[in-house]
Amino acid sequence: MRISSIYRAGQPVISFEFFPPKTPEGERKLYESAAELKELHPAFVSVTYGAMGNTQANTLRVVSEIRNRIGIETAAHLTCVAHSRGEISGILEKLAAARIENIVALRGDPPQGETEFRPVADGFRHASELVKFIRSCSRFGEAFDLIVAGYPEGHPECRDLRKDLEHLKIKVDAGANAVNTQLFFENGFYFDFVERARKAGITVPIVPGIMPVTHGPQIEKFSKMCGTKIPGEIRRAIERFGDDQDSIIRFGIDYATRQCRGLLDGGAPGLHFYTLNQSRATRKIYSNLGLAD
Ligand SMILES: Cc1cc2nc3c(=O)[nH]c(=O)nc-3n(C[C@H](O)[C@H](O)[C@H](O)COP(=O)(O)OP(=O)(O)OC[C@H]3O[C@@H](n4cnc5c(N)ncnc54)[C@H](O)[C@@H]3O)c2cc1C
Repeated sequence: MRISSIYRAGQPVISFEFFPPKTPEGERKLYESAAELKELHPAFVSVTYGAMGNTQANTLRVVSEIRNRIGIETAAHLTCVAHSRGEISGILEKLAAARIENIVALRGDPPQGETEFRPVADGFRHASELVKFIRSCSRFGEAFDLIVAGYPEGHPECRDLRKDLEHLKIKVDAGANAVNTQLFFENGFYFDFVERARKAGITVPIVPGIMPVTHGPQIEKFSKMCGTKIPGEIRRAIERFGDDQDSIIRFGIDYATRQCRGLLDGGAPGLHFYTLNQSRATRKIYSNLGLAD
């Protein structure tokens, strides 16, 4: 099912993000979690591409397994990293053959150690070029719904919020059906982003990305990488609980439950959970919010 139809239905659209594990054992466990999560009736599951050090070929296998065997709707992430147009066409062909109907179209990050993104020859410099390319393909132009990334606190390479939003508008106008945001912890950033986006003429659903705090150092690492501000309440909890994992998880679930409730009450069209393949916290938040019913 296309994500645009899912959002048109009007219910809060809940989705989960996974990354393809590096080992066959990890992959088996992921399928077990996905099968358990199916009971929660997520609208779709998305599978990252080349992120968290996984190999890109795994995305296609994992995404088609989750969709076609486990039976949950999916979106396959796709980045421009190291790909020429011809290679992207080949990947689109494989996704279409696997009956994948939704793609999260991204530029991707520069390789480790490099500060600037450099496209390969005949590749794409921005995600908007990838979106435009997919839409212009005679065979695949309309075969996929496309989600793009948005940054409530600005993208790390473009801290000028006005300019970053202009770039998002170009990306959406090129043919995106929805925006999933980068993780954030303060809802004010999201609501301000949505307001600015609407004023700029971006009308597609803008879905907040939620990462429950389950491990202090990990959240600090991700926040630094994404340029996300850690509010005082989370900082104090990380300091206070230190290595006490149970307490930090309990805090993280409580914080994310309050955050999600605030987002849905404020009109967010859904929630996209960055699960880091750990679905326990997400399941608990889901049940706290009454979404499991
Ligand atoms: C929901 C979500 C899912 C993600 N999934 C993955 C994944 O699976 N794999 C992975 O490797 N990474 C993933 N990422 C990370 C993402 O690849 C990085 O944030 C990357 O640095 C930017 O990707 P983008 O698609 O937003 O790029 P772009 O939209 O191209 O933006 C990148 C930068 O270029 C600027 N820019 C855009 N267009 C223009 C223009 N026309 N002129 C000048 N500047 C411009 C933007 O302001 C921004 O600073 C994800 C991020 C999010 C939010």
